Amino acid sequence: MFEYLRNVHIYFADRCADLSKTIGVRIYRANRCAPTGAQRDRFTRRTSLLAIVVAAAAVVACGDVRAAESTWKAGVAQKTITPKKLMWMSGYGSRTAPAEGKADDLMAKALVLEDADKTRVVLITLDLVGIDRATSQDICKRLYEKYGFERAQIAINCSHTHCGPVVGTNLKAMYDIGESQWKLVDDYTEALKQNVVTAVGDALKSLAPADVYWGSGTATFAVNRRENKEAEVPKLREEGKTLKGPNDHDVPVLAVYDPKGPLRAVAFGYACHATTLSFQNWSADYPGRACNELQRRSLGAIALFWAGCGADQNPIPRRTYELAEHYGKRLGEAVHSVLRDRDSKQMKPLAGRLTAEYTEIPLRFARTPTKAELETEAAKGNKYEQGRAKSLLAKLSAGEAVPTEYPYPVQTWRLGDGPRFVTLGGEVVVDYALRLKQELGAKTTWVAGYSNDVMCYIPSRRVLGEGGYEGASSMTIYGMPSAWHAMLEEAIVKAVHEQGKR
Ligand SMILES: [Zn+2]
Repeated sequence: MFEYLRNVHIYFADRCADLSKTIGVRIYRANRCAPTGAQRDRFTRRTSLLAIVVAAAAVVACGDVRAAESTWKAGVAQKTITPKKLMWMSGYGSRTAPAEGKADDLMAKALVLEDADKTRVVLITLDLVGIDRATSQDICKRLYEKYGFERAQIAINCSHTHCGPVVGTNLKAMYDIGESQWKLVDDYTEALKQNVVTAVGDALKSLAPADVYWGSGTATFAVNRRENKEAEVPKLREEGKTLKGPNDHDVPVLAVYDPKGPLRAVAFGYACHATTLSFQNWSADYPGRACNELQRRSLGAIALFWAGCGADQNPIPRRTYELAEHYGKRLGEAVHSVLRDRDSKQMKPLAGRLTAEYTEIPLRFARTPTKAELETEAAKGNKYEQGRAKSLLAKLSAGEAVPTEYPYPVQTWRLGDGPRFVTLGGEVVVDYALRLKQELGAKTTWVAGYSNDVMCYIPSRRVLGEGGYEGASSMTIYGMPSAWHAMLEEAIVKAVHEQGKR
């Protein structure tokens, strides 16, 4: 109905805007081929009666006219955060040299949403492997001081591209790099904070009435990397065999339109490691290619990617730039197919109010290594164990204790009458997204990982029990004292449920 109405009103949108005030329904203005001048006036006179009839019919026929009101404001902006210097790259501990060049740019993007009560949230997406707690806290402090954003109103998500720079102390135990490289990391981290604050400021400056829609698509390239041998995946696919292990192939989409029609911003998520690439060039990997694909199709719009619970998912096969582009195109197409259906059941208009909650829960480690154990590890361990032992021994030398728990960030935004957007810290395995969707509503729950603080992997109880990289050994490269205590899944899920209640 609305698509028809919108097309009819291409030529008399102004008249209908007045009409809409009278009858209490807002009529969309179309974004294409509106004539002007005498032609428009003639057409408007001829069709004004039709306008009344059609608009009145819309009130009767469409029960969801309230949702078509532009009660939202939105602003969006981006800044390039590609390092200017050829500094150390993050993602892989096997790297032996700094970056050699750039394949494509890394971006910081900010999308501000404001509801009718002027409650705001800002989604910040970064083409980085992760950020540490201190960097996140400092960004949030600056955003509060400059723009008044409370902690709960800010979500910072990292795409987890493995071709970005080392940032702050994220994965610090993994890098055995010299003082001059650490100075570059510090300088970059400071510039990053400034760039994020600027991007949010620019997004606020562009705040304008908006129509917001949400929906979900599908992309199937994420493979459970714990359950499938990488080398065997192409053959299994060729033979038409089903790959093993849980996945989350949903592609949640939040679309922001200018009320006049054009797409201004689209934020979308996917649960899969951005590890197509492992070369020595800066690249945003497949998430950046997906954003570029969408921006190419929707001139002027900014596309933002947020990483879902893809800690145990890889794009397979991988390791070529062509594959990064291929996955980007597939993901972009999945988003685009949702956008195409703005007026169908796949996209729903967002109405209602925003709420934002943020808590940090104490997540316990399984055990605390003794000083003697750490000294042995520092002397005889592998390079990652030595890195972890040295950083924990440094804490003891400074009079601090080895941590027994970690302040884990859990955040929930209720996007009006639309999705519950849960943003979790760390590298979260897919089990969390699947469980939370099952318990809270498959269609109305979006779960991001890699948000606000990427401190280490967050295995489910199942993955923790199985061990392996995501369950246990990755804790060393993240500098954590031990594996997580078995309580972690229940503690995180309970916190998410509690946020939903308030
Ligand atoms: Zn990872």
